[in-house]
Amino acid sequence: MEPIGSFFFAIFVVLSLSDKIYLIPMALFDFSGKTTIITGGGSGIGKGISLLFGQQGARVFILEMNIDAATETVAEITEKGGKATYLRCDVSAQKEVIKTIQTIQEESGKIDILINNAGVAHVGNIEQTTEEDLDRIYNINVKGVYNCMYACIPFMKQAGGGVILNMASIAAMIGIPDRFAYSMSKGAVLVMTYSVAKDYLADNIRCNCISPARIHTPFVDGFLKKNYPGREQEMFEKLAQTQPIGRMGTPEEVAALALYLCSDEAAFITGTNYPIDGGFVNLNT
Ligand code: NAD
Repeated sequence: MEPIGSFFFAIFVVLSLSDKIYLIPMALFDFSGKTTIITGGGSGIGKGISLLFGQQGARVFILEMNIDAATETVAEITEKGGKATYLRCDVSAQKEVIKTIQTIQEESGKIDILINNAGVAHVGNIEQTTEEDLDRIYNINVKGVYNCMYACIPFMKQAGGGVILNMASIAAMIGIPDRFAYSMSKGAVLVMTYSVAKDYLADNIRCNCISPARIHTPFVDGFLKKNYPGREQEMFEKLAQTQPIGRMGTPEEVAALALYLCSDEAAFITGTNYPIDGGFVNLNT
Protein backbone atom coordinates (compact mmCIF):
# COMPACT_ATOMS: atom_id res chain seq x y z
CA MET A 1 0.00 0.00 0.00
CA GLU A 2 1.26 3.47 -0.82
CA PRO A 3 1.95 5.79 2.12
CA ILE A 4 -0.92 8.13 2.79
CA GLY A 5 -0.27 11.85 2.64
CA SER A 6 -0.92 14.08 5.61
CA PHE A 7 -4.55 14.83 6.24
CA PHE A 8 -4.06 17.80 8.50
CA PHE A 9 -5.51 20.91 6.96
CA ALA A 10 -3.85 24.00 8.27
CA ILE A 11 -6.31 26.76 8.94
CA PHE A 12 -5.68 29.81 11.01
CA VAL A 13 -7.67 31.54 13.67
CA VAL A 14 -7.08 35.26 13.83
CA LEU A 15 -6.78 36.45 17.39
CA SER A 16 -6.50 40.12 18.08
CA LEU A 17 -5.02 41.02 21.44
CA SER A 18 -4.50 44.71 22.17
CA ASP A 19 -2.69 46.12 19.09
CA LYS A 20 -1.21 42.78 17.96
CA ILE A 21 -2.67 40.16 15.54
CA TYR A 22 -1.85 36.52 16.21
CA LEU A 23 -2.33 33.72 13.66
CA ILE A 24 -3.00 30.47 15.53
CA PRO A 25 -2.82 27.22 13.52
CA MET A 26 -5.75 24.87 14.10
CA ALA A 27 -5.90 21.31 12.81
CA LEU A 28 -8.92 19.72 11.24
CA PHE A 29 -9.50 15.98 11.68
CA ASP A 30 -7.42 15.78 14.82
CA PHE A 31 -7.91 12.41 16.52
CA SER A 32 -5.24 12.88 19.17
CA GLY A 33 -5.80 10.52 22.06
CA LYS A 34 -9.05 9.12 20.68
CA THR A 35 -9.45 5.42 21.43
CA THR A 36 -10.52 3.89 18.13
CA ILE A 37 -11.47 0.23 17.68
CA ILE A 38 -11.26 -1.05 14.10
CA THR A 39 -12.36 -4.59 13.32
CA GLY A 40 -10.61 -6.36 10.45
CA GLY A 41 -7.83 -3.75 10.44
CA GLY A 42 -5.28 -6.21 9.05
CA SER A 43 -6.37 -6.00 5.42
CA GLY A 44 -7.97 -3.91 2.71
CA ILE A 45 -10.36 -1.17 3.79
CA GLY A 46 -9.77 -1.81 7.51
CA LYS A 47 -6.02 -1.49 7.00
CA GLY A 48 -6.47 1.79 5.08
CA ILE A 49 -8.68 3.13 7.89
CA SER A 50 -6.26 1.99 10.61
CA LEU A 51 -3.27 3.66 8.90
CA LEU A 52 -5.10 6.95 8.41
CA PHE A 53 -6.53 7.10 11.94
CA GLY A 54 -3.07 6.22 13.32
CA GLN A 55 -1.58 9.04 11.28
CA GLN A 56 -4.17 11.48 12.62
CA GLY A 57 -3.25 10.73 16.24
CA ALA A 58 -5.84 8.11 17.20
CA ARG A 59 -4.93 5.32 19.59
CA VAL A 60 -5.81 2.42 17.28
CA PHE A 61 -6.96 -0.98 18.55
CA ILE A 62 -7.33 -3.57 15.79
CA LEU A 63 -9.56 -6.58 16.39
CA GLU A 64 -8.44 -9.33 14.01
CA MET A 65 -8.35 -13.07 13.33
CA ASN A 66 -5.38 -12.75 10.98
CA ILE A 67 -2.52 -12.02 13.35
CA ASP A 68 0.20 -11.75 10.69
CA ALA A 69 -1.81 -9.09 8.85
CA ALA A 70 -2.67 -7.23 12.07
CA THR A 71 1.00 -7.26 13.11
CA GLU A 72 1.94 -5.66 9.79
CA THR A 73 -0.65 -2.89 10.10
CA VAL A 74 0.43 -2.13 13.68
CA ALA A 75 4.09 -2.03 12.60
CA GLU A 76 3.31 0.42 9.76
CA ILE A 77 1.44 2.73 12.13
CA THR A 78 4.07 2.67 14.87
CA GLU A 79 6.94 3.13 12.39
CA LYS A 80 5.34 6.45 11.45
CA GLY A 81 5.04 7.50 15.08
CA GLY A 82 1.43 6.46 15.62
CA LYS A 83 -0.05 4.43 18.46
CA ALA A 84 -1.55 1.04 17.61
CA THR A 85 -2.00 -2.44 18.96
CA TYR A 86 -3.99 -5.50 17.96
CA LEU A 87 -6.05 -7.99 19.87
CA ARG A 88 -6.89 -11.41 18.50
CA CYS A 89 -10.66 -11.48 18.44
CA ASP A 90 -13.32 -13.26 16.41
CA VAL A 91 -16.10 -10.67 16.16
CA SER A 92 -18.71 -13.41 15.78
CA ALA A 93 -17.99 -14.78 19.29
CA GLN A 94 -19.84 -12.65 21.84
CA LYS A 95 -17.95 -13.66 24.99
CA GLU A 96 -14.63 -13.03 23.25
CA VAL A 97 -15.78 -9.61 22.00
CA ILE A 98 -17.05 -8.53 25.44
CA LYS A 99 -13.78 -9.59 27.10
CA THR A 100 -11.69 -7.82 24.43
CA ILE A 101 -13.65 -4.56 24.62
CA GLN A 102 -13.43 -4.65 28.43
CA THR A 103 -9.65 -4.99 28.17
CA ILE A 104 -9.49 -1.95 25.87
CA GLN A 105 -11.72 0.07 28.21
CA GLU A 106 -9.51 -0.82 31.19
CA GLU A 107 -6.36 0.13 29.31
CA SER A 108 -7.68 3.36 27.77
CA GLY A 109 -10.29 4.48 30.29
CA LYS A 110 -12.70 5.22 27.41
CA ILE A 111 -13.84 4.13 23.96
CA ASP A 112 -14.39 7.04 21.59
CA ILE A 113 -14.87 5.36 18.21
CA LEU A 114 -15.93 1.90 16.99
CA ILE A 115 -15.52 1.01 13.32
CA ASN A 116 -17.23 -2.25 12.40
CA ASN A 117 -15.37 -3.15 9.23
CA ALA A 118 -14.65 -6.92 9.44
CA GLY A 119 -16.74 -8.81 6.93
CA VAL A 120 -16.71 -11.82 4.62
CA ALA A 121 -18.20 -12.50 1.18
CA HIS A 122 -20.33 -15.19 -0.39
CA VAL A 123 -21.34 -15.61 -4.03
CA GLY A 124 -24.58 -17.33 -4.97
CA ASN A 125 -28.33 -17.03 -5.33
CA ILE A 126 -30.66 -18.50 -2.70
CA GLU A 127 -30.52 -22.01 -4.20
CA GLN A 128 -26.73 -21.92 -4.08
CA THR A 129 -26.67 -20.76 -0.46
CA THR A 130 -26.48 -23.57 2.07
CA GLU A 131 -27.58 -23.21 5.66
CA GLU A 132 -23.89 -23.31 6.60
CA ASP A 133 -23.11 -20.45 4.16
CA LEU A 134 -25.97 -18.37 5.54
CA ASP A 135 -24.93 -18.95 9.17
CA ARG A 136 -21.30 -18.04 8.45
CA ILE A 137 -22.22 -14.78 6.73
CA TYR A 138 -24.78 -13.95 9.43
CA ASN A 139 -22.39 -14.72 12.29
CA ILE A 140 -19.56 -12.49 11.05
CA ASN A 141 -21.28 -9.73 9.07
CA VAL A 142 -24.40 -9.26 11.22
CA LYS A 143 -23.78 -10.76 14.66
CA GLY A 144 -20.20 -9.45 14.61
CA VAL A 145 -21.46 -5.88 14.20
CA TYR A 146 -24.11 -6.43 16.89
CA ASN A 147 -21.53 -7.95 19.27
CA CYS A 148 -19.13 -5.02 18.99
CA MET A 149 -21.86 -2.38 19.35
CA TYR A 150 -23.40 -4.32 22.27
CA ALA A 151 -20.06 -4.37 24.06
CA CYS A 152 -19.03 -0.75 23.34
CA ILE A 153 -22.25 1.21 23.83
CA PRO A 154 -22.37 0.96 27.66
CA PHE A 155 -18.82 2.38 27.85
CA MET A 156 -19.67 5.14 25.36
CA LYS A 157 -22.76 6.07 27.41
CA GLN A 158 -20.63 6.14 30.55
CA ALA A 159 -18.13 8.47 28.81
CA GLY A 160 -20.87 10.84 27.62
CA GLY A 161 -20.84 9.87 23.93
CA GLY A 162 -19.10 8.16 21.07
CA VAL A 163 -19.09 7.44 17.36
CA ILE A 164 -19.95 4.18 15.58
CA LEU A 165 -19.28 3.60 11.90
CA ASN A 166 -20.43 0.41 10.18
CA MET A 167 -19.25 -0.97 6.84
CA ALA A 168 -22.34 -1.81 4.77
CA SER A 169 -22.27 -2.12 0.96
CA ILE A 170 -24.21 -1.02 -2.09
CA ALA A 171 -25.66 -4.57 -1.80
CA ALA A 172 -27.71 -3.16 1.10
CA MET A 173 -29.39 -0.68 -1.24
CA ILE A 174 -29.90 -2.37 -4.62
CA GLY A 175 -30.20 -5.88 -6.04
CA ILE A 176 -26.77 -7.32 -6.90
CA PRO A 177 -26.84 -10.64 -8.79
CA ASP A 178 -25.74 -13.77 -6.93
CA ARG A 179 -25.19 -12.12 -3.57
CA PHE A 180 -28.15 -13.52 -1.60
CA ALA A 181 -26.48 -14.08 1.80
CA TYR A 182 -24.11 -11.11 1.49
CA SER A 183 -26.98 -8.72 0.59
CA MET A 184 -29.01 -10.05 3.52
CA SER A 185 -26.13 -9.31 5.86
CA LYS A 186 -25.41 -5.80 4.56
CA GLY A 187 -29.12 -4.91 4.60
CA ALA A 188 -29.04 -5.82 8.29
CA VAL A 189 -25.96 -3.63 8.86
CA LEU A 190 -27.79 -0.68 7.25
CA VAL A 191 -30.91 -0.97 9.42
CA MET A 192 -28.95 -1.75 12.60
CA THR A 193 -27.17 1.55 11.92
CA TYR A 194 -30.48 3.45 11.77
CA SER A 195 -31.83 1.67 14.86
CA VAL A 196 -28.76 2.40 17.01
CA ALA A 197 -28.56 6.00 15.75
CA LYS A 198 -32.17 6.57 16.84
CA ASP A 199 -31.96 4.82 20.21
CA TYR A 200 -28.80 6.58 21.36
CA LEU A 201 -29.42 10.16 20.22
CA ALA A 202 -29.84 11.29 23.82
CA ASP A 203 -26.59 9.56 24.80
CA ASN A 204 -24.61 11.59 22.27
CA ILE A 205 -23.63 8.46 20.30
CA ARG A 206 -23.55 9.02 16.54
CA CYS A 207 -23.98 6.01 14.28
CA ASN A 208 -23.54 6.00 10.48
CA CYS A 209 -22.59 3.54 7.78
CA ILE A 210 -20.62 3.55 4.54
CA SER A 211 -21.76 1.63 1.46
CA PRO A 212 -18.87 1.00 -0.92
CA ALA A 213 -19.17 -0.40 -4.42
CA ARG A 214 -16.11 -2.38 -5.51
CA ILE A 215 -12.94 -1.40 -3.71
CA HIS A 216 -9.71 -3.05 -4.79
CA THR A 217 -8.68 -5.12 -1.75
CA PRO A 218 -7.59 -8.73 -1.07
CA PHE A 219 -11.35 -9.38 -0.64
CA VAL A 220 -11.81 -8.72 -4.40
CA ASP A 221 -8.61 -10.56 -5.41
CA GLY A 222 -9.67 -13.60 -3.36
CA PHE A 223 -13.14 -13.53 -4.93
CA LEU A 224 -11.66 -13.47 -8.47
CA LYS A 225 -9.16 -16.24 -7.71
CA LYS A 226 -11.85 -18.48 -6.25
CA ASN A 227 -14.59 -17.86 -8.79
CA TYR A 228 -12.69 -17.12 -12.04
CA PRO A 229 -9.40 -19.07 -11.95
CA GLY A 230 -7.25 -18.20 -14.99
CA ARG A 231 -9.56 -15.30 -15.93
CA GLU A 232 -8.71 -13.00 -13.01
CA GLN A 233 -7.43 -10.03 -15.09
CA GLU A 234 -10.33 -10.16 -17.59
CA MET A 235 -12.88 -10.30 -14.75
CA PHE A 236 -11.02 -7.58 -12.82
CA GLU A 237 -11.45 -5.21 -15.80
CA LYS A 238 -15.09 -6.20 -16.15
CA LEU A 239 -15.79 -5.56 -12.48
CA ALA A 240 -13.90 -2.25 -12.63
CA GLN A 241 -16.10 -1.11 -15.53
CA THR A 242 -19.33 -1.76 -13.57
CA GLN A 243 -18.52 1.46 -11.70
CA PRO A 244 -19.64 4.26 -14.06
CA ILE A 245 -16.48 6.15 -13.11
CA GLY A 246 -14.55 3.32 -14.83
CA ARG A 247 -12.48 1.86 -11.98
CA MET A 248 -12.65 0.35 -8.53
CA GLY A 249 -12.22 2.51 -5.46
CA THR A 250 -9.22 2.35 -3.14
CA PRO A 251 -9.04 1.62 0.59
CA GLU A 252 -7.53 5.09 1.06
CA GLU A 253 -10.63 6.72 -0.50
CA VAL A 254 -12.92 4.83 1.89
CA ALA A 255 -10.60 5.67 4.79
CA ALA A 256 -10.88 9.40 4.02
CA LEU A 257 -14.68 9.21 4.23
CA ALA A 258 -14.46 7.19 7.45
CA LEU A 259 -12.11 9.78 8.92
CA TYR A 260 -14.53 12.59 8.18
CA LEU A 261 -17.59 10.72 9.52
CA CYS A 262 -15.83 9.88 12.80
CA SER A 263 -14.36 13.36 13.28
CA ASP A 264 -15.65 16.15 15.50
CA GLU A 265 -16.21 18.08 12.25
CA ALA A 266 -19.05 15.62 11.40
CA ALA A 267 -20.84 16.20 14.73
CA PHE A 268 -24.13 16.97 12.91
CA ILE A 269 -24.19 13.64 11.05
CA THR A 270 -25.99 10.59 12.45
CA GLY A 271 -28.36 7.91 11.15
CA THR A 272 -27.01 8.21 7.61
CA ASN A 273 -25.70 5.84 4.95
CA TYR A 274 -22.91 7.10 2.69
CA PRO A 275 -22.44 5.32 -0.66
CA ILE A 276 -18.87 5.57 -2.02
CA ASP A 277 -19.42 3.91 -5.34
CA GLY A 278 -18.08 5.71 -8.43
CA GLY A 279 -21.69 6.38 -9.44
CA PHE A 280 -22.83 2.74 -9.14
CA VAL A 281 -26.17 3.35 -7.43
CA ASN A 282 -27.37 6.47 -9.26
CA LEU A 283 -25.59 6.48 -12.63
CA ASN A 284 -25.87 2.89 -13.89
CA THR A 285 -28.63 3.12 -16.48
P1 NAD B 1 -10.61 -7.95 3.42
O1 NAD B 1 -10.93 -9.40 3.25
O2 NAD B 1 -9.45 -7.38 2.66
O3 NAD B 1 -10.41 -7.64 4.97
C1 NAD B 1 -11.32 -8.09 5.93
C2 NAD B 1 -10.59 -8.33 7.24
O4 NAD B 1 -11.54 -8.78 8.21
C3 NAD B 1 -9.50 -9.43 7.13
O5 NAD B 1 -8.27 -8.95 7.63
C4 NAD B 1 -10.04 -10.56 8.00
O6 NAD B 1 -9.02 -11.30 8.67
C5 NAD B 1 -10.94 -9.82 8.99
N1 NAD B 1 -11.97 -10.70 9.53
C6 NAD B 1 -12.75 -11.57 8.85
N2 NAD B 1 -13.53 -12.24 9.70
C7 NAD B 1 -13.27 -11.78 10.94
C8 NAD B 1 -13.77 -12.09 12.23
N3 NAD B 1 -14.70 -13.04 12.41
N4 NAD B 1 -13.27 -11.41 13.30
C9 NAD B 1 -12.31 -10.47 13.12
N5 NAD B 1 -11.80 -10.14 11.92
C10 NAD B 1 -12.26 -10.80 10.84
O7 NAD B 1 -11.96 -7.16 3.10
P2 NAD B 1 -12.26 -5.66 2.56
O8 NAD B 1 -12.46 -5.70 1.12
O9 NAD B 1 -11.27 -4.72 3.14
O10 NAD B 1 -13.68 -5.43 3.19
C11 NAD B 1 -13.87 -4.81 4.45
C12 NAD B 1 -15.35 -4.54 4.66
O11 NAD B 1 -15.85 -3.75 3.58
C13 NAD B 1 -16.21 -5.81 4.69
O12 NAD B 1 -17.22 -5.65 5.67
C14 NAD B 1 -16.83 -5.85 3.31
O13 NAD B 1 -18.07 -6.53 3.29
C15 NAD B 1 -17.00 -4.38 3.03
N6 NAD B 1 -17.08 -4.06 1.59
C16 NAD B 1 -16.02 -4.34 0.77
C17 NAD B 1 -16.14 -4.05 -0.59
C18 NAD B 1 -15.01 -4.31 -1.56
O14 NAD B 1 -15.25 -4.21 -2.78
N7 NAD B 1 -13.82 -4.63 -1.11
C19 NAD B 1 -17.31 -3.46 -1.08
C20 NAD B 1 -18.36 -3.20 -0.20
C21 NAD B 1 -18.23 -3.50 1.14
